Amino acid sequence: MVEYVCKECNRIVKGPVCLVCNSTSLTSDWSGYAVIIDPEKSKIGKRLGVKMAGAYALKVR
Ligand SMILES: [Zn+2]
Repeated sequence: MVEYVCKECNRIVKGPVCLVCNSTSLTSDWSGYAVIIDPEKSKIGKRLGVKMAGAYALKVR
């Protein structure tokens, strides 16, 4: 199964709409996988601008 990533917030999305920002701007062209448990304490989370815990892509093209 192909997983899509939201171009707006890098969130890995399993449906047609991003759960975080409600964007339908998704791409299957991404790499890297990061699970952010605590966005406040995560360096990756801060770099990606993540505000909600979950799975995110490190790079989106
Ligand atoms: Zn999003």
